[in-house]
Amino acid sequence: MRKKEGSMSEGLVWLNGEILDFASAKVSVEDRGFQFGDGVYEVVRVYQGKPFALMEHLERLQRSAREIELPLPLSLAELAAAAESLIARAGIAEAELYVQLTRGAARRNHLFPPDTPPTLVMTVRPVRLIPPELRERGIRVLTVPDERWARCDIKSICLLPNVLAKERAHRAGAFEALFVRDGLVMEGTSSNVFAWTGEELVTPIADHRILSGITRSFVLQLARQHGYRTAECDLPLAELRSAREVIIAGTVTELLAVIAIDEEPVGEGKPGPIFRQLYAAYRQMIAERVR
Ligand code: PMP
Repeated sequence: MRKKEGSMSEGLVWLNGEILDFASAKVSVEDRGFQFGDGVYEVVRVYQGKPFALMEHLERLQRSAREIELPLPLSLAELAAAAESLIARAGIAEAELYVQLTRGAARRNHLFPPDTPPTLVMTVRPVRLIPPELRERGIRVLTVPDERWARCDIKSICLLPNVLAKERAHRAGAFEALFVRDGLVMEGTSSNVFAWTGEELVTPIADHRILSGITRSFVLQLARQHGYRTAECDLPLAELRSAREVIIAGTVTELLAVIAIDEEPVGEGKPGPIFRQLYAAYRQMIAERVR
């Protein structure tokens, strides 16, 4: 059995300008996020009480919101200030900040509701830490058909395919599922994917088929700084299976080494030197930024 996570009192909620505990924060049953999945979101990692790459996340939220024609009710500076004060009030050093914007509460109707204020929610919770043994030993992944829509670049709250795929992976003893579309690897349910071929670090191009991950950009940047060639291009599943190393990356995940794909070992079946170097560089960069 999986354990229930955290008690309800751990953390704080910011709901349309008000700071509340989880038990008191309520949203209408007619919220369009609840009824239509009509909204966008972000997850930001908090290290030592400081949000990491907050502006990058808020800019991506702004882009997602624009793509679904939902104006942000606050400026990015106001949003950042609200997030920072919520984090400070919550007083949780190692946390995750969740930000969700929906098209508000209105009588159920597919059409955009006129004159309806959006619902903006932020929560701060203790981070779901990756067990150290997974970081050390690496993880298994399961490949699944990509049955999502054609705008995976928008960080939409409609996560049903991601939820189903992650559950399938878990039941198969894997940590993450990788979406495969037309024989090409796209990304994980909440992570981007990289393959080290021995010559270059390959990751799928950030077009409409995947989310342009913030961790992904840092990994590419760090890899180049360490003298590795990088390539953003199609990544056929066959190429992933024969890679020397496979890495997944995301905000909460950070970096993890993939040691098996559908039960078949990757490389030597253990985390490799590129993973170790990039993960150390990533942690170092965070330490410098949150100082
Ligand atoms: N792809 C998907 C589908 C995701 O949900 C996430 C997690 N936000 C990522 C990639 C990784 O993105 P980031 O590094 O910005 O967390």
